[in-house]
Amino acid sequence: MINTRKIGIIGAGHVGSHCAFSMILQGICDDITFVDVNEEKAVAQALDCMDTLAFLPHKAIVKSGTIKDLADKDIIIICVGTIDNISKDRLFELDHSLKIIKSFVPEIIKTGFNGHFIVITNPVDIITYYVQQLSGLPYNQVIGTGTGLDSARLRRILSVETGIDARSIQAYMLGEHGDSQVAAFSSAFINGKSLFDLIAEKPEKFFNIDFEAIEKKTAETGWDILCGKNSTEFGIACVCSEIVRAIFHDEKKIIPCSAFLQGEYDTSNIYAGVPAVIGKDGIEYIIELPLNESEKKKLSNTFDIIKHHIERGKRAIED
Ligand code: NAD
Repeated sequence: MINTRKIGIIGAGHVGSHCAFSMILQGICDDITFVDVNEEKAVAQALDCMDTLAFLPHKAIVKSGTIKDLADKDIIIICVGTIDNISKDRLFELDHSLKIIKSFVPEIIKTGFNGHFIVITNPVDIITYYVQQLSGLPYNQVIGTGTGLDSARLRRILSVETGIDARSIQAYMLGEHGDSQVAAFSSAFINGKSLFDLIAEKPEKFFNIDFEAIEKKTAETGWDILCGKNSTEFGIACVCSEIVRAIFHDEKKIIPCSAFLQGEYDTSNIYAGVPAVIGKDGIEYIIELPLNESEKKKLSNTFDIIKHHIERGKRAIED
């Protein structure tokens, strides 16, 4: 029998539809089922995707369905939510998002689903934590997109500042996918060369690099995009596709994502944005970057914010 690579997407909105399109365009899955409370929208998104069939690298089937249809999926992407009450603070969405995931995660588990969850819904680190709690699946099978998007933004901004192609830059945002995230500049590399060393060696070429401003600008990019178009969708779709590809192809690729910390970075029992090795088993292990004292202090602060909101979320989950 030929194995097909099956995906469920819960939430056929801006993010869900772009994730689907990105995956079929790259040919990294064979079968996608959209589930949305707005059934008409799920049907329409599926049809629209199927209209691209004639141009795809290989055949894919995109359809709409219900929670029951998700039992045999390899990966379920959670991107439900609403950003109608637009707020600069992603944590603002917490109670609303928790109420939604509580309505369907236990139902999915009842179907016998035992694949991977990729969580995108904000606030993503807290929602990923509760998807794991509600599902009871092993931590490695529940992955949040975390600072995946922020790390891509950091590389883009560093590329503009240095003139070096973003694909030659390895740099990570750590911690909360939110205002308190931390740029790990001391661990940033330009194809094997420390960013700090490169700048020190070539002051005539790399001057005026304001690290604090770059960190702030990176964290605020999501807000800038939201203000302009009321959604962010292309970048996150690429982050999601990268995780899906790493799982299906057992790539062991290092991807920044929201992973469950069990002592790494001196913290336990939270999901937070860190680089992790991703393969067929989901998150295989976490990479600990060497950080300087100032970065460690900021990281401890961002972890405290995540912990605080996990506590806050308990009330909404227990209600
Ligand atoms: P959207 O409003 O376009 O789409 C959300 C969809 O979820 C809608 O179609 C809605 O009908 C559906 N929905 C709501 N409740 C549901 C339920 N109980 N079951 C099934 N479907 C349900 O929003 P969007 O722009 O696609 O954003 C979705 C989420 O992704 C938001 O939480 C947003 O903040 C988040 N997001 C996260 C990142 C990230 O980096 N983690 C990036 C972009 C967006």
